[in-house]
Amino acid sequence: EIITAPRRIKALDPDVVNKIAAGEIIVAPVHALKELIENSVDAGSTSLEVVVKEGGLKLLQITDNGHGIDKEDLPILCERFTTSKLKAFEDLTSIGTYGFRGEALASISHIAHLTVTTKTKDSNVAFKAHYDSGRLIPAKPGQSADPKPTAGRQGTQITVEDLFYNVPTRRRAFRSASEEYNKILDVVGRYAVHCDGVAFSCKKSGESSTTIATQSKSSTVDRIRQIYSSAVANELIEFTSSDEKYGYRARGWTTNANYHVKKTTLLLFINHRSVDSTNIRKAIEQIYSTFLPKGGHPFIYLSLEIEPSRVDVNVHPTKREVNFLNEDEIIEKICGDIRTKLAHVDTSRTFMTQT
Ligand code: ADP
Ligand code: MG
Repeated sequence: EIITAPRRIKALDPDVVNKIAAGEIIVAPVHALKELIENSVDAGSTSLEVVVKEGGLKLLQITDNGHGIDKEDLPILCERFTTSKLKAFEDLTSIGTYGFRGEALASISHIAHLTVTTKTKDSNVAFKAHYDSGRLIPAKPGQSADPKPTAGRQGTQITVEDLFYNVPTRRRAFRSASEEYNKILDVVGRYAVHCDGVAFSCKKSGESSTTIATQSKSSTVDRIRQIYSSAVANELIEFTSSDEKYGYRARGWTTNANYHVKKTTLLLFINHRSVDSTNIRKAIEQIYSTFLPKGGHPFIYLSLEIEPSRVDVNVHPTKREVNFLNEDEIIEKICGDIRTKLAHVDTSRTFMTQT
């Protein structure tokens, strides 16, 4: 067939656009969960329970004891760009909370069945609401879509069922539920180490034993012990690093020269968001290459706080990439401080037996 005329251009249906956008933010169950964890932490929760079925594809449920959501806000909760955390573009430079775009719940509602049960301090009852494609929907056809009063404790429970039910190509791309569950455990574990004063638990639905459980009062080293191992926790050194000129403050725990494994574990938080950075990872491995046997790698937990005005968080909706000013100088300074600490421990080991 010879095409003689151009095809006409048509606008995509908004629901299609939203589904595409949702799939860009949420590629796997773990991405939905990360957003939900950050929302719970933002809500001031001190307890966070995660329940998972079939690697999160069948069920992802997170229950927190945070400030809850006002009943009046439930109708717009899952619309795109509705947020309680950001009002003007300028706020992006001073935002202290994790979320800032109001896209997470909206996205989830386009590609899964979403139920929210929430109770604020001032309300006598909890309210339960169901969502589809950004809007409130009835629990059963024919009923009212209004949130229903129900019994419940203060806080919020978010239930995500049948993720990607309407994106069959994505759904088929998942090979194993246990692979997805391991990614979920990895993220829950990272936040459980980082979030001081917050108790975390994570388990498979229907099982009584938890895979991850930390108490709110546990120290950072105890959290690392519970989630990673005593082998790691017994060999940790605390470090700090800061520089006013570059507007940053870093602190963390890193293993000494007694500990080494085949692969580096880097728990990296920038302004309290779990992120990855190849540059930081490489720089850390470089320091350790002089302290560890060939092929040996460390465990390191690094929390880096950078003046918000120096961080460009607006890179991509997934927000997994974070750019900041003077990246090279900051990395060099932090690594220098870690190296000094390591060298100090390495020499003092010769004279002291460790307790
Ligand atoms: P963002 O976090 O970027 O604001 P979200 O779509 O993740 O966008 O959430 C929208 C809004 O819903 C939040 O701004 C917050 O007000 C409310 N919210 C979401 N999860 C919780 C929760 N667990 N507890 C209290 N409020 C929540
Ligand atoms: Mg959010």
